[in-house]
Amino acid sequence: MVSSMERYDVVVIGGGPAGLAAAIAAREEGSKRVLVIERDDRLGGILNQCIHNGFGLHTFKEELTGPEYAARYEDRAREVGVEFVLGAMVIDVSADLVVHAVSPERGVFGVEGGAVVLAMGCRERPRGALNIAGYRPAGIYSAGTAQRLVNMEGQMPGREVVILGSGDIGFIMARRMTLEGAHVACVAEVMPYSGGLKRNIVQCLDDYGIPLLLSHTVTRIEGAKRVEAVWIAEVDERRRPIAGTEVRYPCDTLLLSVGLLPENELSREAGVRLNPVTRGPVVDESLQTSVEGVFACGNVLHVHDLVDYVSQEADAAGRAAARFAAGQLGLASLAHAEGHSDAVDAGTAGADVEGADVAGRFGVAGADVAGRFGVAGADVAGADAAHASASTGQSLSAGVGTFNAETTRVLSVETGPGVRYTVPSFVTPARMDNKLTVRFRVDNVYRDRFVSVYVGDERVWHRKRRVMAPGEMENVSLRRADLEAATDATKITVTLEEE
Ligand SMILES: Cc1cc2nc3c(=O)[nH]c(=O)nc-3n(C[C@H](O)[C@H](O)[C@H](O)COP(=O)(O)OP(=O)(O)OC[C@H]3O[C@@H](n4cnc5c(N)ncnc54)[C@H](O)[C@@H]3O)c2cc1C
Repeated sequence: MVSSMERYDVVVIGGGPAGLAAAIAAREEGSKRVLVIERDDRLGGILNQCIHNGFGLHTFKEELTGPEYAARYEDRAREVGVEFVLGAMVIDVSADLVVHAVSPERGVFGVEGGAVVLAMGCRERPRGALNIAGYRPAGIYSAGTAQRLVNMEGQMPGREVVILGSGDIGFIMARRMTLEGAHVACVAEVMPYSGGLKRNIVQCLDDYGIPLLLSHTVTRIEGAKRVEAVWIAEVDERRRPIAGTEVRYPCDTLLLSVGLLPENELSREAGVRLNPVTRGPVVDESLQTSVEGVFACGNVLHVHDLVDYVSQEADAAGRAAARFAAGQLGLASLAHAEGHSDAVDAGTAGADVEGADVAGRFGVAGADVAGRFGVAGADVAGADAAHASASTGQSLSAGVGTFNAETTRVLSVETGPGVRYTVPSFVTPARMDNKLTVRFRVDNVYRDRFVSVYVGDERVWHRKRRVMAPGEMENVSLRRADLEAATDATKITVTLEEE
């Protein structure tokens, strides 16, 4: 039963780094009442268990631990008057922007938002999705669960460890377990390339003599009550184990670092269209989803590696949500783009998601996050508070229904060979800032290839990259002038070329 229905300008779901940054930005953009609903009893999201340093280099120009980074945002959020409900699980978001949650104190309650920001983060892919032969003994953990046990609860999951999957959390845990006195025999990765960052391979594996076995997978788990050993085999180009290559690794613990899945059950039920590759919402240039007034940022949108980029992206989403709530943003590009909707599905359907939706780099053109924390020289390009649409001189402020033909011209962003997906998927040139960063990932390891962007048939971007890998997020910058000049273009294509 709904016990209350308060009204907020912006309601943010999730109090991790994305939710906190979005809420701060919404307040700074002028929203009077901003509410964050968090299911945990503390803010900070997954950063609370990431006690190693390396966070905040971009935003604060210093190395912080995860909790330290989160604390800066929490302090700032309290300072600017963001409201919070902790220990409350959001169970429903409706297309008319009503959010329902449940908590022990308040029971089921509803709040109404002028805009809603989805910031629910992601979860780890479970073993159930892997089809490894053997029993279901104790000793098998996701790398994130092991991280929580070691870093927050002071428990060691085991002493002799094998790690399956080369996600960054697995690398971090290989080092962590070693530092805590365990022996990590190897990290096995089914793909011929790593899913994590090169930096983490060097700092977490190479520095500790832990081998990374590419094109290898666990084929069998031994042990009925507790893991006693795992068998690892080499795989062929179709990822099938090669007979005769199996090696037995005695161990008591198997950690899985086999991908992260954006938490989009709420989004799906709200009718938000999802990209089958990222498994996050399809968004336009303002990070608005296909449901008007619902925005998305952080790991729920697509999996990031660097939390700094999560914060920058969330800042942009929070500002856009505030403008929407104030009637200054207008209809989502996606709502205009019904005619282009096939492009998303055609560009992404059937792509291989397994093992590839790992953490990646996100070069976002965000607002100046660091400035608000008084950090000099922070290097974050992009969106100033004045939305580009203001400079067109055309009335967007009245919101839906006031657009003329040019302001409603929407271009779909499509993927060419070598590119798995892009964020965003739609762009309304009249509403974008002078520059817009489009993020993407490649589908394999490429050397000495060009990244090209076509607006219609016109090539507007062509840059050589020495090495590109699926674990690293790439980005290109779109100029609004190029999009406006190509008056007949209906699509933007991001592609790889040999020359
Ligand atoms: C296990 C794990 C370990 C990681 N370790 C590292 C690392 O070591 N280094 C690194 O750079 N990055 C790491 N990452 C990446 C890290 O997740 C991101 O950098 C960043 O934390 C993402 O921010 P977020 O706010 O999008 O998501 P999160 O930090 O996951 O926050 C999402 C928040 O939403 C809340 N939430 C979800 N659903 C609901 C709901 N229905 N109702 C209310 N609240 C809800 C969650 O409780 C959570 O607090 C890790 C990720 C995971 C999953």
